[in-house]
Amino acid sequence: MSEIINLASRIQKQLPAELVRFMQAAGEIADSQGQSLYLVGGVVRDLLLGRSNFDLDLVVEGDAINLAHRLAQNYPGEITTHPRFNTAKLRWDKWSVDLTTARSETYARPGALPSVKSGSLRNDLSRRDFTVNAMAIHLDPNHYGNLIDLYDGMPDLEHKLIRILHEKSFVDDATRIWRGLRYEQRLNFHLEESTLKLLKRDIPMLDTISSDRIRHELELVLKEEFPEKVLRRAEELGILQWLHPSLKSNGWLSDRFEQARQLSSPTLPPVGLYLTLLTYHLTEAEAEQLITKLRLSKSLAQTLRDTNIKARLQSLADPALPPSSIYHLLHGYSPVAITTNLLASDSSIVRQHIQLFLNKLRYVKPTLTGNDLQSIGISPGPRIKEILNRLHEARLDGQVTSKQGEEEMVKGWLAKGIVDR
Ligand code: ATP
Ligand code: MG
Repeated sequence: MSEIINLASRIQKQLPAELVRFMQAAGEIADSQGQSLYLVGGVVRDLLLGRSNFDLDLVVEGDAINLAHRLAQNYPGEITTHPRFNTAKLRWDKWSVDLTTARSETYARPGALPSVKSGSLRNDLSRRDFTVNAMAIHLDPNHYGNLIDLYDGMPDLEHKLIRILHEKSFVDDATRIWRGLRYEQRLNFHLEESTLKLLKRDIPMLDTISSDRIRHELELVLKEEFPEKVLRRAEELGILQWLHPSLKSNGWLSDRFEQARQLSSPTLPPVGLYLTLLTYHLTEAEAEQLITKLRLSKSLAQTLRDTNIKARLQSLADPALPPSSIYHLLHGYSPVAITTNLLASDSSIVRQHIQLFLNKLRYVKPTLTGNDLQSIGISPGPRIKEILNRLHEARLDGQVTSKQGEEEMVKGWLAKGIVDR
């Protein structure tokens, strides 16, 4: 028998004290009910790697919903349950914990969602994706902190290897192909040799996965710290082309992703912008194919379509273009689509014009309202709209900068007969 590895002190060091106290108490409460509780999955992997991860996944040999209600008595918070899978989520201000009932799964056909029944921790670990994700830690008081490593995840961690648990893994669930790439690139690991062989063999199994699940996988890729690394690897292995044959991940894309990050908040990955940059070079027809393949939401689909304003960019390259024309060329398109063109364009004039639009022109409005115009004596009706439009143009082009200026301008138009009352 191999030596027992105890991780209690690592848990103590790496996780917030509040969470540690919760886990210990949860282990005791479960134990008092004759149930065994374990910490599993990514948090165990990251604990061993020294990476911070506060997403606690707990597995109980017993009944997760029942235990969650019991824990909520001592740790009052919001509780959500899914009786069909017998899982529960406990949420407090700062933290949340997922509790699942240990289960075994069978796949009715490749790519289908599994059918689930309760089982042992052993069953539960055997359905997982990679050895480094299939480790668990005992939380019951008598074994607290002991590592359970049935699939040699530890040596794989040491050798930086992503390895599936059995030969049919990618056939059962081809989303693991994308997952494998994500972990490989995020952790700077390698897909283990036979895993890589099977992954390549099973790429066609991606066809068994529903649009919604594939889209979800792509979103997870784009939420990574450096999605371009995953996309490049996906291209190298022929997986990106499987999404659409015209997609490319090259130096151009990496540069733009880097710029996209600089434009956005450090805590929120610019997922939409990444997607439109990735699809930037697709033709309209190709973009439609991808929209269908991924069943993109209406608004995301519109953003992809809006990105295709290359023809308009040509007009934007005229250095003498007045601000009002810049406004009309770009107004009405989604800001993400416009920002994509800002990052993608090679012309510095185009970039300046887009920047002017995004920073300033899109917010410009006349100060006078329809009511103000009526009190100057303009009759209600279409004339009001026409004058407001003229004022808007004048504002955009800097011909007027104050409310008083606007009033004088309107009066001037009336006096000269440019507009009627
Ligand atoms: P991350 O840091 O990306 O959240 P994670 O390991 O926590 O990594 P999750 O997607 O949160 O990953 O899933 C939690 C655990 O559930 C994984 O560690 C893995 O054991 C298991 N798992 C998730 N998806 C699958 C899958 N498609 N097939 C098998 N096991 C999976
Ligand atoms: Mg997770």
